[in-house]
Amino acid sequence: MKLELYLDHIKANGYKCTPQRLNILSYFMGQKNKFVSAKSLIGHLRKDMGNVSFDTVYRNLYLFKDIGIIELTSVNGENLFHLKNKINTHEHLFICTECRKTTELNLCPMEMEVMDASLNDYVIYDHKFEVYGLCPSCL
Ligand SMILES: [Zn+2]
Ligand SMILES: [Zn+2]
Repeated sequence: MKLELYLDHIKANGYKCTPQRLNILSYFMGQKNKFVSAKSLIGHLRKDMGNVSFDTVYRNLYLFKDIGIIELTSVNGENLFHLKNKINTHEHLFICTECRKTTELNLCPMEMEVMDASLNDYVIYDHKFEVYGLCPSCL
């Protein structure tokens, strides 16, 4: 997805495209589907923009998460962030625990019959499904 589409989405949700938000997005776009830690993102922003506060970066990351353009996960206790390829659709990913690259899965477990049967009388708001392991180049 192009940078402009993410920017449109931010504006459509009533937020401004500040220089830091722009910089965060282009950093993610350069990571090619990888999950990145807030630490490495902040390291990049500090090189680029000087003194950047941890709080502001976190606030922007969680704002992006709230408006549905960033996915958050935790690998070995560390919070990792990933820029979604599509807005307003959910994705399920394989995550390489070594290089943190992702591969999108072509399935959603919620669409499987076995889930329907066991949750017949429930109301479901959300779900999460992630697969962890080593990608072919890390094996
Ligand atoms: Zn890997
Ligand atoms: Zn799903």
